[in-house]
Amino acid sequence: MNNEPTKFIDENGLRVDGRRTDEIRPMKVDIGVLSRADGSCYLEWGNNKIISAVYGPRELHPRRMQRPDAAVIRYKYNMASFSVEDRQRPGPSRRSSEISKVSSEAFEPVVMTQFYPNTVIDVFSEVLEADAGTRTAAINAATLALIDAGIPLKSLVSACAVGKVDGQLVLDLNKKEDNEGEADLPVAITQDGEITLLQMDGHLTEDEIKQAMELVKNGCQQIQQIQREALLKKFGQYEGADTEIQ
Ligand code: ADP
Repeated sequence: MNNEPTKFIDENGLRVDGRRTDEIRPMKVDIGVLSRADGSCYLEWGNNKIISAVYGPRELHPRRMQRPDAAVIRYKYNMASFSVEDRQRPGPSRRSSEISKVSSEAFEPVVMTQFYPNTVIDVFSEVLEADAGTRTAAINAATLALIDAGIPLKSLVSACAVGKVDGQLVLDLNKKEDNEGEADLPVAITQDGEITLLQMDGHLTEDEIKQAMELVKNGCQQIQQIQREALLKKFGQYEGADTEIQ
C-alpha cells in the first residue's frame, strides 16, 4: 500500500487538474434559461452545475414578515439528491441553511431593496452537480439571475474560494483540494471591493490570509469579467458594470 501523502502541486507548479495556483476553473454562463422565473441563470464552473432562479419582488406573506421600508431577500441554496456521488438526503440540512443565510447576507448591501417595500425577492440556487465551490458558484449565478429579473443592484457580486494545499495558497479549490487540503476560504466581493461574504475552514496565518485575499480578489475580478461578458451577450449593454473590483 502506498502511504505517501497526496501531492497536490507537481514540480512544474501545476495542480492535480493541471491548473496554475492562481488559475480559476473554466466558467460558462447562460442567462434567462427559465421562462417562468422573473430572472434565471445557469452556470457551469469546472464540474459544478448550478441553476439560479429569481421570483419577485412580490408581496410577502404572512404580512407580519414584511418590512415597510424595504424588500426582504430570501435566499435558498439546495443540493439536488443526485448532485454528489453518494445520494444527498433531500430537504434542508444545517449546511444548506447556513449557506442560504450567508448568501442572503452577501446580497444585502447591493440589492436596492428600498424600492420595493413590503415585498420579498426569492432567490433559489439549485446545485445540479457539485464539485467544491458551490456556494460561490451559486452566488455568481444568483447575481446574474437578479439582474435578469430587472432588480437594480449597486454592483455585481463576484465570489470565489481560495485555500491552501501542500503549504501553498491556491485559487478556486476543486473537490480533492477542498476535502483534503489545509484551508478553504470562500469570499464574495462587490465592484467597490466590499467583502460581503467571508468564511474560513482550516488554518491560515495572518500573512497567509493577507496573501489569500489578494489572490481571491484577483479570482473575483476574473469572474466579474465573465459576468459582464454574459450580460453584454444577453442584453447588448450593461451600464451598471463599468467599474472593476477596486
Ligand atoms: P462548497 O461547495 O461551497 O465548497 P463545502 O466546502 O461544504 O461547500 O463542500 C465542498 C464539496 O463537498 C461540495 O461542493 C460537494 O462536492 C461536497 N459535498 C458537500 N456536502 C456533501 C454531501 N452531503 N455529500 C457529498 N458530498 C458533499
